[in-house]
Amino acid sequence: MRIDIVSLFPDFVAQCAAFGVVGRAVERGLLSVHGWNPRDYAEGNYRRVDDRPFGGGPGMVMLIDPLRASLRAAREADPTPVKVIYMSPQGAPLTQAKVRELAGRERLIVLCGRYEGIDERLICAEVDEEISIGDYVLSGGELAAAVVVDAVARLREGVLGDAESAVQDSFEDGLLDCPHYTRPVEHELGAVPEVLMSGNHAEIAKWRRMQSLGRTWQRRPDLLDEAALSKSDRKLLEAYRAQLNAETGTRGPEASRPAGSEA
Ligand code: SAM
Repeated sequence: MRIDIVSLFPDFVAQCAAFGVVGRAVERGLLSVHGWNPRDYAEGNYRRVDDRPFGGGPGMVMLIDPLRASLRAAREADPTPVKVIYMSPQGAPLTQAKVRELAGRERLIVLCGRYEGIDERLICAEVDEEISIGDYVLSGGELAAAVVVDAVARLREGVLGDAESAVQDSFEDGLLDCPHYTRPVEHELGAVPEVLMSGNHAEIAKWRRMQSLGRTWQRRPDLLDEAALSKSDRKLLEAYRAQLNAETGTRGPEASRPAGSEA
């Protein structure tokens, strides 16, 4: 997969992609990250890439032409059809489902803004999709682009080894992941749940599913509302609630759920 970054700091994103599993994917040629700096396409001695906003107000706005020339150069660098994404707090929220969709593509161009943002005419003419990484404002799109590159790269075939497989990760099936444990079995911070050492794969799978359902219910009940739970899922969740109730007397988030909403 090829990802082109259009940014005033393109090396930042490439650097972020140089570590861990994503870094190994780059080394193995499964992913390539290319930077395009609009300043290289700006004219004049000062290579200006921004100007004051029409209508007044604070801050600067990124100019159309240096960005347009950078995007053109990025597009022309490879004949594979490409989607242009603009990282923006006004975009659709990035979800695991969106990450999976992007990971199915062979090419992406990721446009990063700075200052007050980018001249709207460039966005209308060149951008296919705006994506936000959350309801907060960053000073630039580079961190957001690095998040997209990392999340997308790890879903590409061959990037994760079996030990790091993504299929059981949070959000993949609409639920949060179960808790994980490793050696030692006994520790002053507690013991590993016995079932995980039982060797009984069916019981382990059942325990994991129950934890996954229970955690989602406790931490992200909004996800549970969306998830299609089977009859056995509902039974497991009931068992989790009963267990929690017996252990702590706590009923979890149920009490704060709106009346009539089902888990
Ligand atoms: N004035 C803009 C607004 O309120 O929508 C914010 C501009 S922000 C200071 C500069 C750049 O950071 C944006 O053009 C965008 O590329 C990036 N950015 C900021 N917050 C982001 C977010 N939550 N997700 C993705 N990109 C973001």
